[in-house]
Amino acid sequence: MTSRPLSFLDTTLRDGEQSPGCSMTVQEKLQMARALDALGVDVIEAGFAIASDGDSRAIGSISREVRGPCIASMARSCKEDVEAAAQALKQARRSRIHIVLASSDLHLQYKLRITRSEALERAASSVSLARDCVDEVEFSPEDSTRADPDFLCQMVAVVIDAGATVVNLPDTVGYCIPAEYARMFEVVRSRVPQASQVVLSAHCHNDLGLAVANTLAAVSAGAQQVECTINGIGERAGNAALEEVAAAMLVRKDQFPYTHSLQLNHLYPASQLLAETVGFGPQPNKSVVGRNAFAHEAGIHQHGMLANPLTYEIMKPELFGVPHHPIVLGKHSGRRALAHRLQELGVALDGADLDRAYERFIELADRKKAIFDLDILALVPAEKRTATQVQFALRSCEAAHSG
Ligand code: MN
Repeated sequence: MTSRPLSFLDTTLRDGEQSPGCSMTVQEKLQMARALDALGVDVIEAGFAIASDGDSRAIGSISREVRGPCIASMARSCKEDVEAAAQALKQARRSRIHIVLASSDLHLQYKLRITRSEALERAASSVSLARDCVDEVEFSPEDSTRADPDFLCQMVAVVIDAGATVVNLPDTVGYCIPAEYARMFEVVRSRVPQASQVVLSAHCHNDLGLAVANTLAAVSAGAQQVECTINGIGERAGNAALEEVAAAMLVRKDQFPYTHSLQLNHLYPASQLLAETVGFGPQPNKSVVGRNAFAHEAGIHQHGMLANPLTYEIMKPELFGVPHHPIVLGKHSGRRALAHRLQELGVALDGADLDRAYERFIELADRKKAIFDLDILALVPAEKRTATQVQFALRSCEAAHSG
């Protein structure tokens, strides 16, 4: 089997930021974008330019300073949105406008109050306007999984003729099951001859816990781009988790013979940085990046692991940059153990700074049953933390580019 390339679009800074409690400052977005660059994603969807001045400035500074990936802004299907996106993306090395317009009758009738033919006209004119402003134009027929398939195919053909280079088929409301989602890609590919000229993309939500399964089904059915977020954050129940899709690609290469540009060992640092930024981490049993993802508690499992890790481990934590923790931190731990864990988290502390952090650590360990990485990061003074985390991201970035 020959490998084909698969692109990763990360939308942590757009769809992810739309989840409750996840809004980020311009500086935080830039820092996160650097971590995504080190991770090697192909496209960073950096925000929704017209939504706010902050979003527009964040897209602008990411465009200027993050030069690896293509930078994208979302836009509704109208002139003002496309122009605002183009303006924010002006300094990007490579730029993309991602235009969204409803495709289901439910959305067209009740949300936009326009007819199907008005929708087709709007889609075509905004795509052709965007085509003149940026390198790539992505179009998403919103709520495509509940649209009439005939109309959906018509819309896809119209936007490709108008100049779209990527067509995303989003399961906006997390309604689909994997076989159905795969079938939709097959239907579009077989009925729209132009579809072979563009990149088809999958964008799934986790309302039924199927976002990653649906994404993988779409890839098997011909999608060449997947849209994900770190830690699976996103509207409502979230988006497909990037780390889970990437892990499935790695562990099940036999089923997914695709090449991609991700540096997998940057996944855990990106996950930790996001957790710190938004103030909450993934649930403990979350695959790949959750605290218990590689923990073995049961005696029988521990015995098997000691005899041969393959007995209970399908992937090694180190591959994803998850630090191996032979030392459990608690109130009996010393300064050196704390400094070591901080080092693993990208923070170098010594002297009086370390003494202060250690004092606070012992106080905390007296009160709390389990000490997590986020607790440990919280011991570090904020200004120190931001600076060191930035250095960490930069070092990772340098290592990725020199390695
Ligand atoms: Mn979405």
